[in-house]
Amino acid sequence: MPGFELFGDLERKEVNDVLDNGVLMRYGFDGMRNGHWKAKELETELQDTFQSKHVQLVSSGTAAVSVALASAGVGAGDEVIMPTFTFVASFEAIMMLGAIPILVDIDDTLGLNPEAVEKAITPKTKAIMVVQMCGSMANMDALQAISNKHNVLLVEDACQAIGGTYKSNPLGSIGDLGCFSFDFVKTITCGEGGAVVTNNKDYYTNADHYSDHGHDHIGSDRGAETHPFLGYNFRISELHAAVGLAQVKRLPEFLAIQKKHYTILRDALSQISEVTFRTVPEGGEESCAFLNFFLPDLETTRKVIQGLKDGGVDVCWNYYDNNWHYIRKWDHLKNLKSLFPISEEVKKGLEYLKTAEFQKSDHFISRNISCLIKLSWTEEEVRNRADKMVKVIKFALK
Ligand SMILES: *Cc1c(COP(=O)(O)O)cnc(C)c1O
Repeated sequence: MPGFELFGDLERKEVNDVLDNGVLMRYGFDGMRNGHWKAKELETELQDTFQSKHVQLVSSGTAAVSVALASAGVGAGDEVIMPTFTFVASFEAIMMLGAIPILVDIDDTLGLNPEAVEKAITPKTKAIMVVQMCGSMANMDALQAISNKHNVLLVEDACQAIGGTYKSNPLGSIGDLGCFSFDFVKTITCGEGGAVVTNNKDYYTNADHYSDHGHDHIGSDRGAETHPFLGYNFRISELHAAVGLAQVKRLPEFLAIQKKHYTILRDALSQISEVTFRTVPEGGEESCAFLNFFLPDLETTRKVIQGLKDGGVDVCWNYYDNNWHYIRKWDHLKNLKSLFPISEEVKKGLEYLKTAEFQKSDHFISRNISCLIKLSWTEEEVRNRADKMVKVIKFALK
């Protein structure tokens, strides 16, 4: 997945354009910038990549999720449904707005289980946030139907699935709003950065203003701009946008490499009958940023993880035992450890987490192994890796 593996001359050239004129900020200073508007250019490129009318760049993927929700009016006391398997950022972005994260089970897609989502809907539900984990997607038709039926927003966190599609639509472009991250380990990187993607003009305008202190961005005198509403600073810098501009042009190249490496590994593991793969909903195409597979039980999975480690096969994880991506180890969130007081409403809204059990999620996550697909491997390295993985898995299954 990581675009940083292939950082080179293109990225350097775009960054040097910015360094040569010294305008590191994305807004204003029109006279000094020699026509370089890297953030604006990257937004235009991303409209094309994500086949969406509007793109607002921001400072991170976490900011993108929070800005997306805020732009659609999600705030104090609203409930946002999210999956148990995701990056902690999903929880943080909801909390930032004073809203309440409602965690629900995933299914064999490793994304939101539509049945669990429907059960979790209450009069306070404002949004369903689907997270397209590890390069693939949840059952989007079912989720869209639920969102339509109950008239709640469908927000897509596609931070890990750049380049994946569902029924020919880019992931991130399907919900009311989509969110992307360009942090250092994502498929394309800005160093740090993120994007909000939408076809809704009002949400876009809100995101544009909200991410820059509420500035209306009308005219060319920044000091004279008005502020229709409260905003914060979630801006991306020109330097970061410049790196992303070079990277986005290489996305087709990155995706082709991912697919090639993914296919070699998948073909090898397919020979083992006990190995099953995550379900990709009909009409879905993975980005191939990861290969995810299931083993029969947790004990075998742990044995395989240890065997891979001992055999020098890196970047394969079991999220059941991992601190970042699964509810099981999020004690700081379950116990609401916060530097500052949290509102009584949110505290009350999160009480369920102390005792909640997510057996369906445990069933899938405990047996799952997720392997990052790197861009810098040679074909020989991928084939060696595939051989080693097959050996380790067969040995653990004995
Ligand atoms: C990386 C990631 C984020 C957060 O992005 P940052 O740019 O690191 O803030 C959010 N959601 C998911 C699923 C991610 O993988």
